[in-house]
Amino acid sequence: MNTVIPLRAEASGCAKPEVLQERGQREVFCGLTGIVWLHRKIQDAFFLIVGSRTCAHLVQSAAGVMIFAEPRFATAIMEERDLAGLVDAHEELDRVVTRLLERRSDIRTLFLVGSCPSEVIKLDLARAAERLNGRFAPRTRVLNYSGSGIETTFTQGEDACLAALVPTLPVATGKAPGLVVVGALADVVEDQFARLFAAIGLPHVQFLPARRSDAMPAVGPDTRYLLAQPFLADTARALERRGARRIAAPFPLGAEGTMQWLQAAAAAFGIDAAVVERATAASRERATAALARHRALLQGKRIFFFPDSQLEPPLARFLSRELGMVLTEVGTPYLHREHLAEELALLPEGVRLSEGQHLDRQLDRCRAERPDLVVCGLGLANPLEAEGFTTKWAIELVFSPIHGFEQAGDLAELFARPLRRRSLLATPAVNAVKAA
Ligand code: SF4
Repeated sequence: MNTVIPLRAEASGCAKPEVLQERGQREVFCGLTGIVWLHRKIQDAFFLIVGSRTCAHLVQSAAGVMIFAEPRFATAIMEERDLAGLVDAHEELDRVVTRLLERRSDIRTLFLVGSCPSEVIKLDLARAAERLNGRFAPRTRVLNYSGSGIETTFTQGEDACLAALVPTLPVATGKAPGLVVVGALADVVEDQFARLFAAIGLPHVQFLPARRSDAMPAVGPDTRYLLAQPFLADTARALERRGARRIAAPFPLGAEGTMQWLQAAAAAFGIDAAVVERATAASRERATAALARHRALLQGKRIFFFPDSQLEPPLARFLSRELGMVLTEVGTPYLHREHLAEELALLPEGVRLSEGQHLDRQLDRCRAERPDLVVCGLGLANPLEAEGFTTKWAIELVFSPIHGFEQAGDLAELFARPLRRRSLLATPAVNAVKAA
């Protein structure tokens, strides 16, 4: 069933974008996918999926070739006898974890990651984590979260992981209010942001997640937090339970989003906007030059987003305002009205937003629009390419460093590349080579 729900007026500036809410068949990855970027980020953590061979294959193929001498994730595969209740799954799990931690003294945080199979048999991983903590903490802290694909989308894996970390964060003791940036960022991006924050007078910004378990940020009632990703609703709730307060801002995608994100942080700490202007001038100039290189190709091109990562609204804002693309539909799996209020206010008037998915109907709308570029999941990309559409894999936007001024050009390039590839394939010379 579909319904159209108007957004609150104050969330959307002068216009009141309407949101088409859809329920039906969906086409998304599950939350296990988050392990692919989280295991790179938290360098002394290990992700143990309690799942099936399917789960193991999914993560292994999403992560590609393993580049570590010692891997940072694995799957404890549940066999038929586990699923049939013929063995005690808790005993089996204890054996696997003990073997792992005896062999790997470098693991400081162990995440037990639930999956569809572990949820179907109601294996209580919270109880398992508590029991294992009794044996292995403080050397190794054992936490649990769900990466299951039942009613979730793939970026919720990161949300669930960070929400599990929040209760374990140290208590902030300093008198001065602290700033925590929330959301896994590539190390290079985190370093750039740390330098920019220092330049505007915020030298002690902390990041969640940190690169090491003993460097996770401290949180308390004086903590202000700034979301770097739009899909962290549970993490935000957990932080607020600890007393932290969110700084409302658009997300740091593109030059404009990054600038407004930094300005919002500065304003929350009483720093003048002119200080941010000065500290970011060179970075903004580089971003503007990098974007100009892509504008000629992207300007006026029509883009259609299928719901996938929850990054769709900020990406749409960036593409429309900084590159002149035309938004035919912006689909997103979930639309967090409060966290996205600043983004929605920046979208063009009358833009079609859809939340959730009814795959067949959305495919019909996409075919009717004939957009120049479709952003979608891997499963839809090949069939749509076969129909003559040019596609961009949504998951690539989560795997790539795209935040901040220095990455604005790379972000635009991710959308320009498929269009260039399509036009090359359409040239007679390439077609002649193909024919030969
Ligand atoms: S968690 Fe569920 S959706 Fe994800 S790979 Fe395992 S079985 Fe499939």
